[in-house]
Amino acid sequence: MDPEEFRAAGHALIDWLADQRVAVADRPVRARVAPGDVRCALPTAPPETPEPLETLLRDLDRIVVPGITQLQHPCNMAWFPSNASLASVLGDLTSSGLGTLGISWESCPALTEVEEVTCDWMRQLVGLSDAWSGTIHDTASTACLVALLCARERATDHGQARGGLVDEQQPLVVYSTEHAHSSVTKAALLAGYGRRHLRLVATDPWTRAMRPDALADAMAADLADGRRPAAVVAAVGTTGTTAVDPVADIVGVAERHGAWVHVDAALAGSAMLLPEHRHLWNGVEGADSVTWNPHKWMGTVLDCSLYYVRDVEHLVRVMSTNPSYLRSSVDGTVTQYRDWGIPLGRRFRALKLWFHLRLDGIDAIRARLRRDLDNARWLAEQVAATPGWRVLAPVPLQTVCVRHEPPGLSGDELDAHTLAWVESVNASGEALLTASQLDGRWMVRVSIGAEPTERADVAAVWAKMQVASGETD
Ligand SMILES: *Cc1c(COP(=O)(O)O)cnc(C)c1O
Repeated sequence: MDPEEFRAAGHALIDWLADQRVAVADRPVRARVAPGDVRCALPTAPPETPEPLETLLRDLDRIVVPGITQLQHPCNMAWFPSNASLASVLGDLTSSGLGTLGISWESCPALTEVEEVTCDWMRQLVGLSDAWSGTIHDTASTACLVALLCARERATDHGQARGGLVDEQQPLVVYSTEHAHSSVTKAALLAGYGRRHLRLVATDPWTRAMRPDALADAMAADLADGRRPAAVVAAVGTTGTTAVDPVADIVGVAERHGAWVHVDAALAGSAMLLPEHRHLWNGVEGADSVTWNPHKWMGTVLDCSLYYVRDVEHLVRVMSTNPSYLRSSVDGTVTQYRDWGIPLGRRFRALKLWFHLRLDGIDAIRARLRRDLDNARWLAEQVAATPGWRVLAPVPLQTVCVRHEPPGLSGDELDAHTLAWVESVNASGEALLTASQLDGRWMVRVSIGAEPTERADVAAVWAKMQVASGETD
């Protein structure tokens, strides 16, 4: 494809994408395909000759679009918002179109320095002090792994340069809660701590937040048994109920043992763009690392996860390798992001954040977040005021956890009722909600905050929930 062909095809493709966003509200939210449908619609052998763009677009319409769950639909309230602001999509396209390669500062100075600046803008926008330096990872899962590797190396005084974890006398322990994201367990296992050294600290039965007294007890018990408390992962906004672990108290407990504190604010970081919500991560300045995903609620298209640390030197010491072909005369005066994380080659990811902030503007982003918080509060009030319905957890953010509890139903029967009505809503294609277990029973998460979701959409989904739960009685 030469640049003139690209120009023509690119215009057609952008038109096609814009049409998708216009049409999204008329599509079923949940993809109506069975396993294998998409695969079977595709030829098993690769094409031997080039095809025109029109053929490709036709297959996108015919095969791919029906296989997409429409997260940009106004009645998508599943999982967490995964917004893809069109401004950021243009930035993402620019990143690919420029064909840059980030393996060192020299391989693309602008890639490094735009990332430095946008990470610092984002730091300011969420009210973190200038003690923090940031980088962009693909996901919060990667960021958590990096954090636990840094914690491991701090606890062992860089044991990786000697015999690694296997040579340590004292096992290292990681603390989190049962409500933490699955990526925390994954990171702890991958970083070599071992399942036996991952503690799920007790939580408050209503807020589901980590109990600092229980954390202190768990750490003391480990210490007494010859183990070393190495890291705590505190969630600001758990994935199940958006529970908020008390960061300030956790930092206080961890400090006594020199344990690393990683704050996982994957979803809730977006709320920190609003000064009135920053109390939710009070104490964050005492943590060692923080991650949050602009690619969730804020809406910078996947993948864009910010990772901030206070001790860059430590991060670089853990992550750096310095092969001869990457050395240069500017080393030491520039940022080499390859030493801030796992991959060597990086995309120009900062562009999508840069486009998002500059084209949409922070005021509009903040207004949308406040709208969503308002809608969640409104829904929680409706649910709480309706007989037979219950709000199961506090609503500090934009997710409302609910259950319809008809008189006489409990246990497995109540579970079956919950799963039946939520499936009937989801099968309708008119809305998408997530069934999830809490305290061993099924409930339904209504996670508000898709970019086009207005109050009327929330009201419509709430009406559908009530109809669906009545029909299945
Ligand atoms: C979504 C989420 C994650 C994982 O995010 P990825 O970027 O998809 O890895 C981690 N922690 C919490 C609290 C989340 O909500």
